This record gives sequence, structure tokens and C-alpha cells, in this order.
Amino acid sequence: MVEVFAVASGKGGTGKTTSTLALGMALAREHDVTVIDADTGMANILFHAGLTEAEPTLHEVLAGDAAVEAATYDRFGMRVVPCGTSLAGFREADPSRLREVVATIAADAEVILLDSPAALGSRTAVLPIVLADRIVVVLQPTVPSLSDGLKVQEYATTYGTGVAGLLFNRVTDDAAIDEIAGKAERYFEGETLASVPESDAARAARRASEPLLAHTPESAAAAAYRQAEDGLEVREGLSADVAERFQSAVIPEQS
Ligand code: ADP
Ligand code: MG
Repeated sequence: MVEVFAVASGKGGTGKTTSTLALGMALAREHDVTVIDADTGMANILFHAGLTEAEPTLHEVLAGDAAVEAATYDRFGMRVVPCGTSLAGFREADPSRLREVVATIAADAEVILLDSPAALGSRTAVLPIVLADRIVVVLQPTVPSLSDGLKVQEYATTYGTGVAGLLFNRVTDDAAIDEIAGKAERYFEGETLASVPESDAARAARRASEPLLAHTPESAAAAAYRQAEDGLEVREGLSADVAERFQSAVIPEQS
């Protein structure tokens, strides 16, 4: 039984990786969670999860040189599939194999989170959105970020992927965020799951190479992610159906 979420945004630096691991840990309180670094060109889960020495990674799996199981590591109560950062590894990797990887993991998982590339970066960057059941859109409370997020939602709906909700990150103005979130909800198909404050704890966690919920679970930012998770009702599909769907998912043309 599995639901696949892509944690997505238009551009980089919005907090997708931070959010993927935080939601993953929050979900792992009740579910069997696998987190995959699907941002194969700008991988950084390994830096957030103490996996810089991990070998093999998703790069070798996508190159056909390793089995998915060999690149899956038990960390922080989740299963984590990190991706390498070398240019050579990226060059050898066939992004379209991600379908098979997700299908294999889906056969034996409850929740899969795909840390996704900046969706507006290239056409293959939308593959995780195509594969997912629903996306979590990570936004910063600015007009450009909201408008990028709407494009991401458009990709999702084009491919039949739902919107699980919005996650505002790096929020500094508590007074303004309610108004911004209220306006955003008129245009987005999902509700606001939480607004995560700009947080020293998030930065310190990254420096310590630990997910926020492991490093500083008592921080306000960590609490916001747990609240976000409360709003995510996991819908479990049949693994067999999901696996089949992944195998037949249409890969967007290469740009
Ligand atoms: P993305 O995966 O979207 O590129 P990251 O999760 O890697 O974004 O975050 C980019 C940078 O911003 C990282 O250095 C991270 O530690 C920092 N960051 C993320 N969320 C917050 C936050 N709420 N407060 C402060 N810094 C944050
Ligand atoms: Mg990232």
C-alpha cells in the first residue's frame, strides 16, 4: 500500500530537501517511509542526512550498476536513497530509470517522498511530479515564488497528479503570512499545510548533516513540519496498481 509524494517547487533553494526529510521523519512516526533524492543533477539529501560517504547511490542505480536495495540506507527511522554529486555519476545516470526505481520501492513501502529538482529547470525535472500521486508545493511567501508554484501545479494537473498542499518556508513576517496564504489558496488546489519560520535551527541542522527533526525537534520549525504532516492524510493505493502505473508513466520529452 503506497502513496507517492513529490516535494516540489519552481526554483532551487526554497527548502525542498529540508522539507522532504522533515516531512519524512514526521510521517515515519506512523508510517513506513522511503525518501528518494530524485534531484539527480543537484543532489543534496546526502548532505542533510549524514550520507556523504554512502556508496552506491541512486546514480549507480540509474546507471544500471547497482540494485535499488544496495543504495537504500536506514537513517532516522526512514529508508533513504541518496544520490551522488559527481558530474561523471550524473552523466552515466539514465533519468528515465527512476520509474523502475520507484516501482521497485513501491512494492514494499507505505509512503514514498521524492525530493524533486527545481521543476522549471528542464523538462526531465518534472519526472518526479509525473510519477507522484500528489505534490507538496514548497513556497516562499513572495510573488515570484507563488507564480513559480502555480506553474508547478500546472505541470502536476497536466499529468494527473494531485496537490496535497502548500508549505510556506522561511517565513519572517507572521502577520503577513495569513493574508498571503489565504490569497494563495484561491489559486492553488491544495490547502496550506503549515508555514515554517526562517530558522537558525534549520541552518544548524544542515551544517550538522542531520534532518531538522533529528537535530532540533523542539524548534518552532520542527513543530511546523509536524503540523504539516497532520494535514497530510496518506491515501494508500494498491502497490501493484502503483507499480504498474510507474512502469507506464509517460516521460516528458527531453529538452
Ligand atoms: P532546496 O532543496 O529547495 O534547494 P534546501 O532544503 O537545500 O532547498 O534549503 C536551501 C538552504 O536553505 C539550506 O542551506 C537550508 O539549510 C536553508 N533553509 C531551508 N529552510 C530553512 C528555514 N526554514 N530557515 C532557515 N534556513 C533554511
Ligand atoms: Mg534540494
